[in-house]
Amino acid sequence: MLRAVTKTLITSPISAARTMSHCSLSGKVAIVTASTDGIGFAAAQALGKRGAHVIVSSRRQGNVDKAVSLLRNDNIEVTGTTCNVGNTEERERLVKMAVEQCGGIDILVSNAAVNPFFGNILESTDEVWSKILDVNVKATFLLTKQVVPHMEKRGGGSVVIVSSVAGYQPMQGLGPYSVSKTALLGLTQALAPELAQSNIRVNCVAPGIIKTRFSSALWQNEEATNELMKRISIKRLGTPEDIGGTIAFLCSEDASYITGETITVTGGINCRL
Ligand code: NAP
Repeated sequence: MLRAVTKTLITSPISAARTMSHCSLSGKVAIVTASTDGIGFAAAQALGKRGAHVIVSSRRQGNVDKAVSLLRNDNIEVTGTTCNVGNTEERERLVKMAVEQCGGIDILVSNAAVNPFFGNILESTDEVWSKILDVNVKATFLLTKQVVPHMEKRGGGSVVIVSSVAGYQPMQGLGPYSVSKTALLGLTQALAPELAQSNIRVNCVAPGIIKTRFSSALWQNEEATNELMKRISIKRLGTPEDIGGTIAFLCSEDASYITGETITVTGGINCRL
């Protein structure tokens, strides 16, 4: 009986349609920044599984090589390169490579961020602010500006910016980083109306607490985790895949009428500006 049901499911038109819609990004070229680990890697994987050719990058060649090989094992079409998004020449090289080697750009996921400071906001320095705003905010804008002409040549595209729950409610000790993430909510809304004229949608994802290296100081501390759990309705930390799937949805045709929007993916943490 169970075997019969399974067979029906596998061969049913609904199942075939699902399989097809899973390849909804075939022919698309996607740049995902900071994509050799954590959320960026999961985003590259989710886009690649839906048929996109993904361009993965981060600062370290060893990390790029490892990510490329893991994605190839998943039968994902992938090209890898180093790119520190805070560096103008490296951003330009990334875009040039996508155009020359993959024929164009349809999707940009701006995921890279740094946080060089933990403490009281009044103790943060000029250097801290410059670094955080340069990498987290300015590089996101400048990279978007660089890819727009290439998306226009393809008749449109999709940009997804990775913000944070901290952009809604600044996290204690992470003042400058939180402010940079609030700025990304504004950047999304500033870009969306202008780029809609070029058939480019701009959306944002605000993850909650996702179990990655970046947030390890939080989830490795039992007391901090217990405190966080009080705010999370779905009583677990998020996974990179929780965010990767949302990013892939925003890049897909299923989201063709969504722009200027931020989706919070927080397990229910209350997000209000
Ligand atoms: P992660 O697992 O630590 O991965 C960070 C990735 O970024 C690595 O691939 C790293 O590789 C790369 N990277 C770091 N600095 C870079 C730079 N300047 N240029 C290019 N690549 C860089 O981090 P994550 O948790 O996935 O975080 C990704 C994004 O999600 C960030 O924007 C973060 O603010 C946001 N976010 C995370 C959480 C969370 O709880 N984890 C929550 C909300 C928002 P290399 O070392 O090789 O450069």
